[in-house]
Amino acid sequence: MSKLALHGGTPVRSTPLPPNYPGAVVYGKEEAELASKVIYAQSPFRYYGPNMQGAVEALENAIVQDFDAKYALAVTSGTAALIVAMKALGIGYGDKVIVPANTFIATPGAVVCCNAVPVYCDVDDSLNLDPNDLERVYDEDVKAIIVVPILGNPVDMDPVMAFAKSKHIAVIEDMAQSCGVRYKGRYAGTIGDIGTFSFQMNKIVTSGEGGAVVTRDVSLLERAIRYHDQGVLRHRTRYGIDSPDELFAFSGQNYRMSELAGAVMLEQWKKLPTIVGSMKTHHDRIAAELEAEIPGIRYRACPDPDGSIGSNLGIVFPTAAGAASFNQALNAENVQSYVLYGGKPVYMNPSLFHMRSAEKNNFPYDYPFKQPVSISENMCPRAVDLIPRTVYIPMSPVLSDRDAADIVEAAVKVHRALQVFA
Ligand SMILES: *Cc1c(COP(=O)(O)O)cnc(C)c1O
Repeated sequence: MSKLALHGGTPVRSTPLPPNYPGAVVYGKEEAELASKVIYAQSPFRYYGPNMQGAVEALENAIVQDFDAKYALAVTSGTAALIVAMKALGIGYGDKVIVPANTFIATPGAVVCCNAVPVYCDVDDSLNLDPNDLERVYDEDVKAIIVVPILGNPVDMDPVMAFAKSKHIAVIEDMAQSCGVRYKGRYAGTIGDIGTFSFQMNKIVTSGEGGAVVTRDVSLLERAIRYHDQGVLRHRTRYGIDSPDELFAFSGQNYRMSELAGAVMLEQWKKLPTIVGSMKTHHDRIAAELEAEIPGIRYRACPDPDGSIGSNLGIVFPTAAGAASFNQALNAENVQSYVLYGGKPVYMNPSLFHMRSAEKNNFPYDYPFKQPVSISENMCPRAVDLIPRTVYIPMSPVLSDRDAADIVEAAVKVHRALQVFA
């Protein structure tokens, strides 16, 4: 048996794998050329200027077409997209929004920035929101559920949609980590009332920063457009919306996407099928090979494996200690892997755990809810248990077959040395 690199042996790889930025690692002349066009046209703003290139609008049209969506609105970030979505739905002070215990801090953070209070739903074996836990966390102040397909796997949407319908509340799909994921044949992000996307550097396709909001409801679209701008409605003819500002304008934030980001994103968007195809091919092959070599290996459950984009292979270990030692030993072999979010539910972040906002008097947490919100470490026990037991191996879209073989070799080597599945 070969000695682990962690213990001074020779690592399976002498160099690291390609970096885990699926969109950025396939940047090339396409992004450069369209961004250059915007520069040479001296026209970086989407709504006016000389010789407009229409990149942001073309991006929105491409999203609508490729995802069989109705409307898309490009914004400046995934966080902005979440805020625009909640503002479009009229969510605010005195409202609660259900979020999963396993997500990035931006999901509940955006709720707080919309003056509402997040409440946390546990996860199931998919590491995504457990639809069976919704009833426990629901009360009459809840106005929406935000589901978050974590790291490339879909959420089980049918029971979520059925629950939301029974309570007459909205569903937002936070697609930040999972652009391209499908559920029962439909693109996730188009199933709920609003879908939100992030185009930040870590995500599947990227313009460094950026995001989008998707909806089928024209009145939600109108409010989203107004909020992402200064409350006004430009380009009325594009959607045939004709509500007068005298009656419908409100104060908005400026979350407009620039033409430079739009140009880069439009070219990235065209590469999404190639990126996903490559990640999924490697993911499925590596999963099958590890299954053959490591008896008892367990993967994160998935409600619709065909709809996964395969951006990460999630391995679930019997214990958190086993997961941590496997992760550390694998990294020493020069194969990147990680335990998500320090192995903790999102509500353990200090600002969320202590329910602190930036506002005076701790608005909006100060709202006198009939059922007060409280937070305790073990309130979502499956998240507490599963998150630190799960190690993710990212699948770069530019992995070579040799790289993929190294991942398998390193994981098998670490398994044989540590026997963490025994
Ligand atoms: C990254 C991320 C966001 C925020 O996106 P930004 O573009 O960085 O603002 C929101 N939700 C989830 C689940 C994310 O992973």
